[in-house]
Amino acid sequence: MSECIVTSIRLLPPTLVNRIAAGEVIERPASVVKELVENSIDAAARRIEISVRNGGRNLVSVIDDGKGMTDDELAIAIQRHATSKLNDENLMHISHLGFRGEALPSIGSVSRMTITSRHQGAQDAWSLYIEGGDVHDVAPASWPQGTKIEIKDLFFATPARLKFLKTERTELQHIVETVNRLAMSYPEISFSLRADDKHIFSYNAVSKEHEKDTLLHRLSAILGREFKDNALYVDHQKEAMRVHGFVGLPTYNRGTSLAQYLFVNGRPVRDRLLLGAIRGAYQDFLARDRHPVVALFIDVPPDEVDVNVHPTKAEVRFLNDQYVRGLLVRGIKNAIYSAGHQASTTVASSALSAFNPPSPSPPPGQASGSHVYSQGAPAHHSAYEPASLYAPLPPASQHDSLIKDPPMAPAARMEVDASTMTAPSTGTDTVIEDYPLGAARCQLHETYIVAQTRDAIVLVDQHAAHERLVYEQMKQHVKEQSVACQRLLIPEVVDLNPAAVECLTQRASELASFGLVLEALGEQAVIVREVPALFGDANIVQLIKDLADDLEELGESISLSEKVEHILGTMACHGSVRAGRKLNIAEMNALLRDMESTPHSGQCNHGRPTYVKLDLVDVEKLFGRRE
Ligand code: ADP
Ligand code: MG
Repeated sequence: MSECIVTSIRLLPPTLVNRIAAGEVIERPASVVKELVENSIDAAARRIEISVRNGGRNLVSVIDDGKGMTDDELAIAIQRHATSKLNDENLMHISHLGFRGEALPSIGSVSRMTITSRHQGAQDAWSLYIEGGDVHDVAPASWPQGTKIEIKDLFFATPARLKFLKTERTELQHIVETVNRLAMSYPEISFSLRADDKHIFSYNAVSKEHEKDTLLHRLSAILGREFKDNALYVDHQKEAMRVHGFVGLPTYNRGTSLAQYLFVNGRPVRDRLLLGAIRGAYQDFLARDRHPVVALFIDVPPDEVDVNVHPTKAEVRFLNDQYVRGLLVRGIKNAIYSAGHQASTTVASSALSAFNPPSPSPPPGQASGSHVYSQGAPAHHSAYEPASLYAPLPPASQHDSLIKDPPMAPAARMEVDASTMTAPSTGTDTVIEDYPLGAARCQLHETYIVAQTRDAIVLVDQHAAHERLVYEQMKQHVKEQSVACQRLLIPEVVDLNPAAVECLTQRASELASFGLVLEALGEQAVIVREVPALFGDANIVQLIKDLADDLEELGESISLSEKVEHILGTMACHGSVRAGRKLNIAEMNALLRDMESTPHSGQCNHGRPTYVKLDLVDVEKLFGRRE
């Protein structure tokens, strides 16, 4: 019996081994493109031309002007574990994109592949054909320079895999994505893609004086001009690690996280830790279902990252992942901070395109003008009181019954620094017009402030703007540890599942430092004794449930301070905004000046803009005053 088992063990034939490897490395035509283009990049190519047919199923061809291969190299290249890229046998120092030496033999085992190459400076070119793993002899060929690899009938030898391919369109989409990612990382190389003889794109090699400009040029070729206009430069270094690249303004956001391009040491990756860090950095500015657009390059010393986690090398593992996470979050936050009150340009263009040309004869009544609260109208409020717009107190009876020691009203804590409230009088409009958000002229619908600068009209959503100002102040209190607590007269018991109770109680001391004092009450509830006074009369049960959900979902990967910011933001947005209030010109101007001096005030906490700036030039076009 045992004899039988021993004799049944045998070494698998090389073709089968290669096909098994192909199962891991070559999932679809885009994987072939990725492996071949990476090889061209490793071969120091300056120009890479890709063409495919039928979504890559019938043909993938990659031509480069790299250093090429000699006939001997060609013969070895298609052998398993043959690589020219790991010379010191040290897996901790990986400087090329390839190193496993398995792409060519794997692809050759499941397709019909022809490699034609001429080594740098050599007189002759050579070619090699391999079909379903069956390698033919190297033969002389005619080829000017570099390497051309043609893959026909991918997966003909593994019909099971063939069946899993999606439509040609989808496969082509994956190919486009793959080349785009690599092209972002190598702006100094030209890339072109053709599909079924149609031109898809070509990106010319870029070489500008500054790395930043080179990168932005390539990114705008790939992601569009709009990205360029709304991108913030990130460059942050900490010891031997660096993150640089561009991130979109929060108001320039998307419905999915697909437009988040991340690179580690030049290699495109999709890594959960890094995606989580992006979410963390933006969560203060974006709703959960909105995602920023980013292209970020992380450089870490090769011995601090393991790229050999997965055959496709799309995942990486860092020696110190919290450090890397921190680097990314800080880099992005600095960039967003530097944007000040800036909101994205797309906001204005979508606003402009929403205007319809007026009909030739206005409907009756329109000419009489609407009643706006403007300069001429009497002021109902002499001083700008941002907080009072925001933090309505609940009916006194309800409020008092909850709180033993009534704290200072939330409104009082949220006041925006009085020193910034020196609202200039309307007589100095010409000077105020030089401010980025200009001079306030009137208020419409008790909601929108209309202001003018020298060359633009500014519309401000006063609610959204206020919300942000108050929120920034709340955060400041948390940062300065000047959070005031309010002790609940009747402690709130919140029923939860045991895992949620565990999550919250584990973080109890951290939560206490933010003014939230709670403890477990049995296995399925927590009892809340104190809440931050800033939370006003917020729904505590809902807050605790949301907090528990967030902590459970995000686990350890996110620091609580970021989380609490998120909670504060949600409160400011949902909890505290009251219906419109009339503002006089001085109040409006004070609000505009506050916005200019408050970081992140270009968007509300959910990534919606707080203002729109319409260039006069564009408005003039709207009325046909300008071409
Ligand atoms: P790896 O890239 O991991 O080394 P591959 O199977 O992809 O393994 O390639 C094997 C070898 O073939 C490479 O190490 C390289 O020496 C050579 N090679 C592949 N493609 C090219 C190319 N386009 N130009 C020059 N050499 C190439
Ligand atoms: Mg390779």
